[in-house]
Amino acid sequence: MLTEIARATILLVDDVPDNLSLLSSILRDDYRIQLATSGAKALELVAASLPDLILLDVMMPDMDGYEVCKRLKANPDACDIPVLFVTAHSQIEDEEFGLMLGAMDYIHKPISPPIIKARVRNHIALKLRTDTLKCLSFKDGLTQIANRRRFDETLDKELRRAERQQNELSLLMLDVDNFKLFNDHYGHGLGDQCLKRVAQAMQAEVNRPMDLLARYGGEEFVVLLPGTSLDSACKVAESLRKAVADLQIPHAHSLAAEFVTVSIGVACNTQSEANSATGLLNLADQALYLAKQSGRNQVKPWHKK
Ligand code: GH3
Ligand code: MG
Ligand code: MG
Repeated sequence: MLTEIARATILLVDDVPDNLSLLSSILRDDYRIQLATSGAKALELVAASLPDLILLDVMMPDMDGYEVCKRLKANPDACDIPVLFVTAHSQIEDEEFGLMLGAMDYIHKPISPPIIKARVRNHIALKLRTDTLKCLSFKDGLTQIANRRRFDETLDKELRRAERQQNELSLLMLDVDNFKLFNDHYGHGLGDQCLKRVAQAMQAEVNRPMDLLARYGGEEFVVLLPGTSLDSACKVAESLRKAVADLQIPHAHSLAAEFVTVSIGVACNTQSEANSATGLLNLADQALYLAKQSGRNQVKPWHKK
């Protein structure tokens, strides 16, 4: 998510190719440029790769700039991309309408190259700063993996996506075994180091771009696996369990093993009780409880009693 100014991408949208050429010639030395000659094409490009800024013509046949802006703002993946209208409309009401739709700014045609450059530079700087802060606010300070806030947001998004696309979505809930006894024996400092190493070992196993490992709180972690069945999720869980056990971090007082281990509960949205975020979390939590009761250091899928 952290993009340098020089590598920022700007999407230019205008139905007149000459206008695109002109804008592109002003900006291409400083940014990566994408071009779209229609609203539909612009939405396609945004869906494929999220640009950092969009310069959007208002008057276009088929779908005008206002409609494109409305659709972008309704899309949770794209709604934070700043939109600048570039338009010959000079009425105050037009400008107000565009800003009400969520556009950041208005640039009037005929355009002035130095003004375009300066405004784009300001908006890109602001966008990149916002991205950096967002990135930090989504990270767990101790383990450097995703935090609870990031997980909650992603879970909501992925549940909606899974429902739309009739896709499976699995959730692992992991908890370090007898971690209170670890802290009591080795001290809180080593406890913190242990959590860091456990998180890193698990992160190395979670490698598909859509998968998300997060620290849920304390010594509890979650993994979200889009497009993954309960059976496949159990296999991922087993690889995580093994990765942690293989670290062989001594835990003299564990009731489960000589080393630090995790117990893992697995649930999938195909299970009838799991049709909401709370529902899915509850099932994974119940499965985790079962893994703890069955002796810890193991994986348990949720199933009806
Ligand atoms: P179980 O196997 O049933 O999960 O037992 P447990 O001891 O792991 O569970 P319990 O919930 O009783 O204790 C969790 C412990 O985790 C207590 C708390 O001090 C410790 N803990 C939570 N967050 C942190 C942290 O950030 N750093 C350290 N060092 N310890 C933490
Ligand atoms: Mg716990
Ligand atoms: Mg625990």
